[in-house]
Amino acid sequence: MVSSKAMVMAFVVVLAIPTLLFSSHTFAELPRLEHSLKSDGSLSLLVIGDWGRKGEFNQSQVANQMGRIGEELDINFVISTGDNFYDNGLTGVDDKAFEESFTNIYAAKSLQKQWYSVLGNHDYRGDVLAQLSPVLRELDRKWLCMRSFILDAEIVQFFFVDTTPFVKSYWNDTQIHNDWREVAPRQNYITNLLKDLDMALKESTATWKFVIGHHTIRSVSVHGDTIELVEELLPVLKANNVDLYMNGHDHCLQHISSKDSPIQFMTSGGGSKSWGGVYRPNSDELQFFYDGQGFMSLELTKRDLKMVFYDVFGQNLYEWSTTKDAYPSM
Ligand SMILES: [Zn+2]
Repeated sequence: MVSSKAMVMAFVVVLAIPTLLFSSHTFAELPRLEHSLKSDGSLSLLVIGDWGRKGEFNQSQVANQMGRIGEELDINFVISTGDNFYDNGLTGVDDKAFEESFTNIYAAKSLQKQWYSVLGNHDYRGDVLAQLSPVLRELDRKWLCMRSFILDAEIVQFFFVDTTPFVKSYWNDTQIHNDWREVAPRQNYITNLLKDLDMALKESTATWKFVIGHHTIRSVSVHGDTIELVEELLPVLKANNVDLYMNGHDHCLQHISSKDSPIQFMTSGGGSKSWGGVYRPNSDELQFFYDGQGFMSLELTKRDLKMVFYDVFGQNLYEWSTTKDAYPSM
């Protein structure tokens, strides 16, 4: 039953997105999508998280600036790091919040590109299958949300990971209902996901490997580190030379460098309500922390990566860049 549903979903996605195709790789269970580069071989995109509040808490202001920067950078697509609809996800495919928090807010011309979204813990409080449903794509073609999947863009592979099921406290919460359909039992889900992710990362020949999840791995803000991800996900990322881990969950912008690996932790969770007022340093190296609203851009070539954090006024707050050696010494 589950697998036939997944087949239908895959079929609908292929039909609905002519520029995205499932590739013929069969070595991993994770669904695969493709996105082409610009004609000059580069790629640019925006990353936003923790946003769906019907325009309130400056969601609309952040969206306006995303539209402006999106146009400047001629973005290829947008990544949402989850907590797409507050407070309790969507009630179903006919929930007006989809239009009020997404379609009507991200209306700028430059944002009418493909959005690739993961689920956050608040999304799990509602009807998760609604957010994953192709019916929403009929309402707004830029929407695409899946649990865990791989996006292949030639020079870079993005590995989207469904992180909410990792967090044990959600499973034990008697106050808040979580929609674990097609997920439970937890341990099977996590084990299979980590195995598929590890295999896909090992097989990857992309120059850049980016992993996206809703939850923090390392964070100095309200939620801090997510211990289950530090223990179970981070070792897989370290073993496979992942360049970036991007997340939301904490409503801020932050860049933390791993001290014992090349991984850079980027939080882009400033899509609406923000200003948590918490700063708790951890043992990795904090490069930048802004406890407010905003978003992130990424510009990429085979050799160069540049990221920028912007605030609610579209002001450039912080830039970081790195280069891949064309001829690595190993
Ligand atoms: Zn969250």
